[in-house]
Amino acid sequence: MTKTTPLAAEAARLYDAYRLDDLPRALRRNSLDYYYLSIYPSLSGLRPIASGDEPQYPQAISNAYIHIPFCSGVCDFCSYYLVAVNPRRRAAIARYLDDVRVELDYHARRTDLDITYLYFGGGTPSLIPPDALEGFLDFLADRRYLNPAVMGTLELHPEFFDDEANSSRFLDILKRHGIGRVSVGYQVSDEDILRETNRRHTAGFMGRAMSFLRARGFLVNLDLIYGLADQSMASWERTLADAVGFEPDSISTYFLFVDRGTGLYEQVRRGRVELPPHRHAQTLHLMAQLALEAAGYHELPNDFWARDVGDPATFKPERLPSAAATLPVGSGAYGYYHRAQIANVFDLGEYGRRMASNRSPVWRGYTLNDDESFHRDVMFALKNDPFIDCALFRSAYNRSPLEHFASIFVRLVEYNLVTVAGDRIRLTPKGRLCVEEIACLFRHPGIAAASGEGNESAVLAKHNYAPTYPAISW
Ligand code: SF4
Repeated sequence: MTKTTPLAAEAARLYDAYRLDDLPRALRRNSLDYYYLSIYPSLSGLRPIASGDEPQYPQAISNAYIHIPFCSGVCDFCSYYLVAVNPRRRAAIARYLDDVRVELDYHARRTDLDITYLYFGGGTPSLIPPDALEGFLDFLADRRYLNPAVMGTLELHPEFFDDEANSSRFLDILKRHGIGRVSVGYQVSDEDILRETNRRHTAGFMGRAMSFLRARGFLVNLDLIYGLADQSMASWERTLADAVGFEPDSISTYFLFVDRGTGLYEQVRRGRVELPPHRHAQTLHLMAQLALEAAGYHELPNDFWARDVGDPATFKPERLPSAAATLPVGSGAYGYYHRAQIANVFDLGEYGRRMASNRSPVWRGYTLNDDESFHRDVMFALKNDPFIDCALFRSAYNRSPLEHFASIFVRLVEYNLVTVAGDRIRLTPKGRLCVEEIACLFRHPGIAAASGEGNESAVLAKHNYAPTYPAISW
């Protein structure tokens, strides 16, 4: 029989003390309804955009996300847009970066690219051959698309550390061009889970990898995942302890979401894989909160844990989420600017053809009206800000979320999910456990998560990133 550890026992005690079993279904966590709030409207809620008809650009862009849609295989739970490539044959990635240059020139003719924050995600950006990476970053510098003070992050897959000469050269190039932070897909330290989910690596790489990164002065984030089938409390506790032991600067904890069209979704649908119920999922979540807090990490604000950041109680939002802008770059990238949620084409062949004929990469988009933007700002402020500042909303929209959504906030306070003090609406520790589910209560009734149409339906289903929680009429 497995012995309950103090961490698991405390998490179970908190689960009962918070009365998480009493939450309505729409606030109970499960991988099939769950969605990691990073895009709204969801991909299928965006409208097809004809070439030349893309949403109006802002005057300048300071944030860019570059999607590298290549991996050495496909992890069981992955729903990101990518194709599998042989890591020894990476010429396709170098050619893809040539197209990305064309795309950036296209944008630069329409907006001022003065990038202060650059994020390489994927896919697996660490599969880029070093020569291609250097050529690409030199191009950005030569064109003056990067601000001299640029900071950046690049995602690394564990297999990156297998070839020391390649990784050493790659990291030196990054550092020389101002990309000083990496995010490592550590995920779990359970070898059985790594094998069963087709992660294509073991857990033993991380100690050596961390010394390697620290010797070159990189800031390091570790990505962890929980809510996987057969992920026991003991297994998750080991992952948390191992992750903390590596002393990364930050840790991101992701709850598993299962989109239609993924292999995992099919296995669940056929009854071959059983996903953990709400109690188990939230007990793992509580274990993460307890373990990371005890190790000196602060949740800033939800699912992202950092240390050495000062006192989070003094943090406040400086602007509304809609004031931020991120240019999506590459096939399968999505972003937001000027009240428009946009997505580039999720098709490498079509992306290449568009770049060859100097056409827009934007595939789908939606420009939100004032009311829709108000709803979206509430959702993202809940997810990403230290609290909702009603004063910011009043000056932008001439109305306050507290008054506009009075009946919802009354119920959220009754459930002890938020507190209200003057103009500030803050998630409680209990509310932090279901932030996405709470955010979804503020969906705009006029924005439907439309189903896909025609040939695009499979792509949209697989990469929709949309909530499917049942509505609550509060
Ligand atoms: S490495 Fe990341 S992006 Fe690639 S298949 Fe796995 S989860 Fe998806």
